Amino acid sequence: MTSPLRVAIIGAGPAGIYAGDLLTKAHAEVDIFEHLPAPFGLVRYGVAPDHPRIKQIILALHKILSHHQVRLFCNVNYGVDITLPELEKYYDAVIFATGTIKDAPSNLPGVDLPGSFGAADFVSWYDGHPDVPRTWPLEAAEVAVIGAGNVALDVARILAKSADDLHVTEIPDNVYDGLKSSPVTDVHLFARRGPAQAKFTPLELRELGQVPGVDIVVYPEDFEFDDGSLAAIEESNQTKQVVKTLTDWTLIDPASQHAPRRIHLHFLWNPVDIIGPDRVTGIKAERMELTGDGSVRGTGEFEVWPVQAVYRAIGYFGSPAAGVPFDEVKGVIPNAGGRVTSADGAQVPRVYATGWIKRGPVGLIGSTKSDAQETVRNLLADLGENRPATQREPGDIVAYLNDKGINYLNWDDFERLDAHEMAAGAAQGRERVKVVPRDEMIAISKGVAE
Ligand code: NAP
Repeated sequence: MTSPLRVAIIGAGPAGIYAGDLLTKAHAEVDIFEHLPAPFGLVRYGVAPDHPRIKQIILALHKILSHHQVRLFCNVNYGVDITLPELEKYYDAVIFATGTIKDAPSNLPGVDLPGSFGAADFVSWYDGHPDVPRTWPLEAAEVAVIGAGNVALDVARILAKSADDLHVTEIPDNVYDGLKSSPVTDVHLFARRGPAQAKFTPLELRELGQVPGVDIVVYPEDFEFDDGSLAAIEESNQTKQVVKTLTDWTLIDPASQHAPRRIHLHFLWNPVDIIGPDRVTGIKAERMELTGDGSVRGTGEFEVWPVQAVYRAIGYFGSPAAGVPFDEVKGVIPNAGGRVTSADGAQVPRVYATGWIKRGPVGLIGSTKSDAQETVRNLLADLGENRPATQREPGDIVAYLNDKGINYLNWDDFERLDAHEMAAGAAQGRERVKVVPRDEMIAISKGVAE
């Protein structure tokens, strides 16, 4: 009788955990490795704190991680503490579910000026990621956000929302203090295409209109619809809803808007220059026009908005994993249906990918489920019942980690941190209070905090 399939998954975000779930259903034994001291990836460190409904996904992920066929090893740095050749000794297969945490690169002039930020970095800050600086320079009264996706909405909303309205959430204390002292009055979001090409989802867009103390300002002259736009509205209920919400906002009488803060949505304006001699003082954008099929071209007309900070929310980008092929252009691990492929297109044996590092940073968290299905289906087809006699060595990764002195944290350790954060939250009538510093997370997890 063949021994159970043993699979290592790198990354304890939703993508890795969903893959682990499917593998346990196929009677595999699964070890999930995570470089952070806590699991849940983008749900813990990407979803905005005022989106508790989405954070509820953690409850389902909890259940999977506490399954007896799944072991969690947090605070283990792939590429440093463990390498692919080592993992291949202990496992039949390795799945990379490392996600994307960095901002897509931008070559906009002025992008390196002080006051120019990547949205991914800001998200990591407000979500209390342990590996980013604890302070954030919130000094601007007028801010630009580039991009028309849900991350741009998150950034615009968190910047404009009252810190006191966020205090009930799990935001760390330093984030509350930073947002509380922010002088922001106007957030300008720039979409380079038209309203029908925005990537917002309807619920998240509607939410923007319900933020207390914030008015939404749209500009009727930005509302152009070419044949491509009309077709997009016709074809997609989501686009229809987004366009309806935006169009309804054009009917608001500006004279009726008196909120202390405003979010301006600018369509058909493509930022071309972040202006400033030695720090951001403005953003220059070119007026775009639709060409007929939903794409745009520049008109040669430019305008400058005075802003003191610019946030680029133009998408995330993956990072390479040591010893694994990487597509530098797309920022993903090249693969065919989750089977990792090398430059010549050949399959790298026993190595797989799932989630955003497999297909790029697009789609809601639920879409990583179908991703995991494809990857696990192919893995099982390659290595399932008819797999060759085990290629792995007897023995267990635990002895290896212990020998190397790796201070890994398992599920019980995380439950200790989780209970600590929940109790700290309950004491203040809040959902949870997130522990941020890495060493503090580890000490609480190990039960050795003072
Ligand atoms: P996204 O949805 O792909 O949006 C990226 C935006 O950036 C697009 O509007 C794009 O415009 C624009 N853009 C790209 N390159 C640009 C450039 N060089 N100059 C100007 N604009 C540029 O990506 P995202 O906002 O990072 O979100 C990633 C995924 O996470 C999405 O599926 C999103 O729905 C999901 N998410 C969901 C939530 C939620 O609350 N449910 C929150 C955050 C993220 P073009 O379309 O013209 O390329």
